[in-house]
This record gives sequence, C-alpha cells and structure tokens, in this order.
Amino acid sequence: MSTVWMNQLSWLDYEARIKRDQPPIFLPVGALEQHGPHLPLGTDGLLSAAVAADTAALVGGLVAPTLSYGYKSQPKCGGGQHFCGTTSVDAATLIGSVRDAVREFARHGATKLVIVNGHYENQWFLIEGIDLGLRDLGPATKLQVMRLEYWDFLTEATLASVFPNGFPGFALEHAAVIETSMMLHYHSSLVRIDLIPDDGPADFPPYDVYPTRKNWVPLSGVLSSAKGSSAQKGAVMAAELAERMAAAVSHEFS
Ligand code: ZN
Ligand code: MN
Repeated sequence: MSTVWMNQLSWLDYEARIKRDQPPIFLPVGALEQHGPHLPLGTDGLLSAAVAADTAALVGGLVAPTLSYGYKSQPKCGGGQHFCGTTSVDAATLIGSVRDAVREFARHGATKLVIVNGHYENQWFLIEGIDLGLRDLGPATKLQVMRLEYWDFLTEATLASVFPNGFPGFALEHAAVIETSMMLHYHSSLVRIDLIPDDGPADFPPYDVYPTRKNWVPLSGVLSSAKGSSAQKGAVMAAELAERMAAAVSHEFS
C-alpha cells in the first residue's frame, strides 16, 4: 500500500490511513488551457499533480484526484479564452468545487489539506472556496488547510540558473521555460520540443480591455520563449519544489 494516489485505495484502506497516520491530503488544481504548440492542454494539472505526488511521498501524504478545470484564462498569464481547447469554469463553479472538497475531506476525518495550485488564474477562487468550506464546518473543525502556488517554492538561486538571461516573471511564464522543463522531466513523451515557438516576451499595457484584445497575445499562445528548456532544469526544479513544499507542510502540520 505504498501508493500516494487516493483514487487507487479502497475506502477501507483510505479510512485506515486517515485514522492511523492523519496523512496530509494533497488536492492538485489545474486547468484545461492552451499551452502553445509544444505542451498539452492539461499541463497545469499534470504539473500540480506531479509536484504534489513527489511532496506527498516525502511526508507520507495522499494525493486526491486533480480538479482539472480552472478559472477563465486571462490574456496576460494564460493567453486568454479565445484559443480552441481552453475550457474554463466560472468562478462560482471553482469556488463550489473547493468548498465541497474541504467539507468532504473534513467529513472523512482528515485534519490536513494541502491545495496545490498550478494555474495562475485560480488563486482567489481557491481562497474563497477554502474560506466558505471552513465557515460551513464551523470553529470546532480540526481541519487545517494550506494553499500554495507551487512555483513560489523555487529559490532565487534556482531561477537565476534556469534563466541565465533574466527571469521574465511568473505571469509570462506560460508554456515557457519553467512549465516546459518540468514537463520534460515528468512527462517527456507529451512535449513536442521541435514545435517550441520563438515568440519573445509578450508586451502588455498596464490595463485590461473587455472583450479582450486577441491581438495582444502571440498567435502561438506562448507568452515568453520556451527555448532554453531542458529536462535537467526540470529535474532540478522538481527536486527543489518537493523538498521545500515538504518542509513547509511538516512545519505547519507537525
Ligand atoms: Zn500553465
Ligand atoms: Mn494556466
């Protein structure tokens, strides 16, 4: 019974783990969103799940199935909603899914829930879902929830080595060096390295317009170049993320 994947356990094995170990339950959250010509639509969820699984293995945790649909893609961080394949949910839908998950894991007797976000646009709606879920449970609940964006665990030293010409910032890091390198590490068969486009960093004005301006976004959907990605960079980042996320989980929930 060494799996970290909750959906591979029977309910009795799961219940026994909850009662015996109080394992942290990791809930990855992603999106179904274009990631350029070279990465799959499910990149955000595949990466949050992979990072969650590596972290769970270090702390004796379990990983619940990924919430695979995210909040609407925004031009400045995900390319926007106009791409074929990008399939998003309203904020209320995502909030409701997280609220339900918080309540259900608490009902199981879990006391430690870690929500691992892999899609920039989800952040505030995850917070709202957690807040409403905890309000439903009331002040007597034993459930504690940690929420994180996995990329925040990368150190400046690692970012400097991954981006020798300067880091463009996490918002423009859409389908670019971090995600492509991490996918080469975790799911190399899903990466079309030969199709990586040359698009330089997208240049956005300091405001938004609605309906969104499609011509602000490179046709490829990539917001900064993925050239310079490598499986080796992905391995370095993946190891750092799991180690530092495990340390944070142990620190908060020990
Ligand atoms: Zn992404
Ligand atoms: Mn995304």
